[in-house]
Amino acid sequence: MENASYIGRFAPSPTGPLHFGSLVAALASYLDARNHDGTWLVRIEDLDPPRESPHAPGEILSQLHACGLDWDQEVMYQSTRIDAYKAHLNKMADQNVLYPCICPRKKISGTYPGTCRGRTFSTTDKPYAIRLKLRHRSVTLDDLFVGKISYDTETDVGDFIVRRKDELFAYQLAVIVDDCEQEVSHVIRGADLLSSTPRQILIAEQLSLPVPRYGHLPLVVDRNGIKLSKQTHALPIDTSSPLRTLRFALQVLGQDTQDRATNTKQLLSNASRQWNRSLVPKENQVHDK
Ligand code: GLU
Repeated sequence: MENASYIGRFAPSPTGPLHFGSLVAALASYLDARNHDGTWLVRIEDLDPPRESPHAPGEILSQLHACGLDWDQEVMYQSTRIDAYKAHLNKMADQNVLYPCICPRKKISGTYPGTCRGRTFSTTDKPYAIRLKLRHRSVTLDDLFVGKISYDTETDVGDFIVRRKDELFAYQLAVIVDDCEQEVSHVIRGADLLSSTPRQILIAEQLSLPVPRYGHLPLVVDRNGIKLSKQTHALPIDTSSPLRTLRFALQVLGQDTQDRATNTKQLLSNASRQWNRSLVPKENQVHDK
């Protein structure tokens, strides 16, 4: 029986084909959803054309499909959601919690100190980014894998960008607006996004949107401890032997590798049934195959 209260999702940015690190995040969110008889969605976060490859959405979807990671419902594309982001940005503007920022990005290291806080939209004519003004408080997250963490808005977060200087909407705004639109209840993703989470919670609270449960997975790193990513030239996953790829991913997630399964369907259905959050390791995982 389907569990209507669990909706999970995988939300890749189409900067290139999936590498092993992103497959691990996809698999964990899939298994967590299926283990709870929930729905599993895919959302393509195509919000940043300069960083994207036009072939990537198709490549990513066919890689997921080749691994048997079939999603429910139609794929959502963030490029079709601009009006929703505008409406939410306007709502925050009406609440007087936004300000224009003309600070050059390169000059800011660490937490933004609020240099442009006194600036107003009516007197700023240069291209500007838009930041959310935070009141000093702490944000607490009870992460499914990492446990409880608290963030201080002043020292750990800082007023952050919700619309960029090039007029593109920031990931932080789009992601929480869409998680709400898709009624996502559980966000399972890599720990590289952990520090983004208080920002998404702060936007949700500002806009009175529901906050999903979050679970951040250990990162997959190479032999030198560097996270696998497009920037470090991580190779696309090998879809010619999906069983082998999925077994490596299960191993990284601390789960049984389902050595007796003879096809992806069997492997995924057994792995979903046996999925155990408490076996997911806390430390980063090395993968150099
Ligand atoms: N699109 C983001 C990325 O690929 C992930 C978004 C998320 O899972 O919240 O890094």
